[in-house]
Amino acid sequence: MGIVKAWMMEMQERGYSESDDYVCAACVTDPFLAEWIAGHAEANACSFCEAVSDQPIAAPFEDFTGVVLGGLGFDWNEPTQEGITYITREGGWQASLSTTADVLYDAGFSENDDMIAALDDMIDCEAWVEREFYRGTDSQRLSWGWDSFKTFTKNHTRYFFLQAPGDGYDELTPAEVLATVSDMIRTKLADEGLIKTIGRNTDLIRIRVDDQPQTTASAIGTPKPEHARQSNRMSPAGIPMFYGAFDLDTAHAETFDPATHAGKALSVGTFRSLRDLTLLDLAELPPVPSVFDLDRQPLIHSLRFLHAFAADISQPIARDGREHIEYVPTQIVTEYFRRLFRSADGRSLDGIIYRSAKHAGANAFVLFCENEQCIDVDAPEDEASLLRLASVSYQ
Ligand SMILES: [Zn+2]
Repeated sequence: MGIVKAWMMEMQERGYSESDDYVCAACVTDPFLAEWIAGHAEANACSFCEAVSDQPIAAPFEDFTGVVLGGLGFDWNEPTQEGITYITREGGWQASLSTTADVLYDAGFSENDDMIAALDDMIDCEAWVEREFYRGTDSQRLSWGWDSFKTFTKNHTRYFFLQAPGDGYDELTPAEVLATVSDMIRTKLADEGLIKTIGRNTDLIRIRVDDQPQTTASAIGTPKPEHARQSNRMSPAGIPMFYGAFDLDTAHAETFDPATHAGKALSVGTFRSLRDLTLLDLAELPPVPSVFDLDRQPLIHSLRFLHAFAADISQPIARDGREHIEYVPTQIVTEYFRRLFRSADGRSLDGIIYRSAKHAGANAFVLFCENEQCIDVDAPEDEASLLRLASVSYQ
């Protein structure tokens, strides 16, 4: 028996009432549920809105309730199944619980209050508790949210977090979280375009802001380690990377800070890669699947993690020259992708593409490239060379 089937049965065992009602797709806002209703439509009228048709438009409400329960179970569980105890003299359940109505509204799949109230009546569960994990494969046990990952790596352990032992429960360690997310990228997300190849002739724009105009690849490309004083969302001070964009406007928006850069010279370098580059594309992440889509449920935690990481790395940085503790988690994940990640065909990553927070709709990138790997227009290349400076302009 498949996991999905077993899950449905577990949900159904919890129980819900019978019903003769029908629900139409217009009564839900979740695209997966709307599709499910369309695929199971039997009745020509909806019991919860005015919708009527000469074609079947509404699915049996009882079956629909089962599908809803299967989705709610992704984030919520019945308290005893989470090991929560009930102690009368301590005030009852030893956890913060939610009602079925709370859980239904939290899931945010419908704006039809009558339909939500009918579901509340149907579902036979007194109280719910947030689910930490559900038993299954490693990917399904990925219960760490981005917030707990951040707390752990900022305030608990910094350099040996990969060796941090598990807590003896089924929760994954930070190392296992990263390994699981990476495994998802290689396997279940393999066809979603997260690993992108950027060809040799692509323009890669990088701007150096300085007192003087600069002319060389060494001066405009990745800073030398001793000059990498600025702590960044992806790189700590002392570990330089090549931050750039695919177009001038985005490179300018990402680099130029009017408050600190007024009156300075902007040297705009157009670099081209000397070989194809393998990049992790976090700018075009697939949406987090609906919790009601049982086939894609195992991707939810990985995609929630990647979306939160992508949102954090795209935020503007504070240009005050200080080391920022809030950058540590994104620096760790970046270093993991740089040093340990391998694609399904064994390639290591050359960098990460992310959405620019300063130029809406455009993408920026970071390349894992050292200063000496950036070479001048006419310089001879060696094995390590990665980017050749094609032209320089000034602003
Ligand atoms: Zn309806």
